[in-house]
Amino acid sequence: MGKLLEGEVCVITGASRGIGQAIAVRFKEEGALVYGLSRSKPEANIEWIPCDVADEVSIESAVNSIFQKENRIDIVVNNAGITRDGLIMRMKTEDWDAVLNANLRSAFIMSRAVSRMMLRQRSGCILNISSVVGLHGNGGQANYAASKAGIIGLTKSLAKELASRNIRVNALAPGYIETAMTSVLPDAAKQSLTTSIPLARPGTPAEVAEAALFLCSPRASYITGVVLNVDGGMGM
Ligand code: NDP
Repeated sequence: MGKLLEGEVCVITGASRGIGQAIAVRFKEEGALVYGLSRSKPEANIEWIPCDVADEVSIESAVNSIFQKENRIDIVVNNAGITRDGLIMRMKTEDWDAVLNANLRSAFIMSRAVSRMMLRQRSGCILNISSVVGLHGNGGQANYAASKAGIIGLTKSLAKELASRNIRVNALAPGYIETAMTSVLPDAAKQSLTTSIPLARPGTPAEVAEAALFLCSPRASYITGVVLNVDGGMGM
């Protein structure tokens, strides 16, 4: 059987570690040419373009440099994300802005930049990484939950807007996945999260990457505008 993403040009934000890195590695195994965009250099053997997704110019210049080299962009995964948790009364406006800029505004700017090319190509696929927290909310994460809920609105709107040009737009909603982002949680919080998961364990970045591969591959050619939970049943 042939590889699922043979020759596809893919851009993945936040591919320097965690979920983004796992997606980059998996896509490469399936024959894709993968460009990772992040501030620090990825450990994985992929093309790297230094990029701060909170900066509009940085995203647009990265996209332009890929397009000049490859003359097309087939798949974009808006994965980069941060947390700045805190209770609402103590949440600084800067913490709100930082999270919304890195998690949501970045996906808007990236999608706008690549949609110009995808519209010309009359094909493309955008995958946005949301979260179960974007579907259900979470105390202490008003900024993060708002950014991840916004990702879902962005995903469904772009899916409707771009479908007639054969551009699919979907989202993943991971639950509790073991990465640097969650490793900083206190042990008690990790334990309580695990108790809330029907499959009774955290997920791995590789498990999220499998779902990403499916949604970005021709196997999902008739799927657009969906939010797929990858959460061990946590969000049921
Ligand atoms: P990590 O903290 O392990 O990795 C985050 C990635 O985002 C890094 O590669 C980082 O690269 C990149 N990034 C952050 N800020 C920027 C920026 N300003 N510019 C460019 N790149 C940036 O997180 P995860 O792998 O856990 O998370 C990946 C995505 O999955 C995020 O959107 C997160 O919200 C989401 N998610 C994670 C869950 C989990 O349980 N882990 C659950 C649900 C959703 P660098 O620092 O090098 O710039």
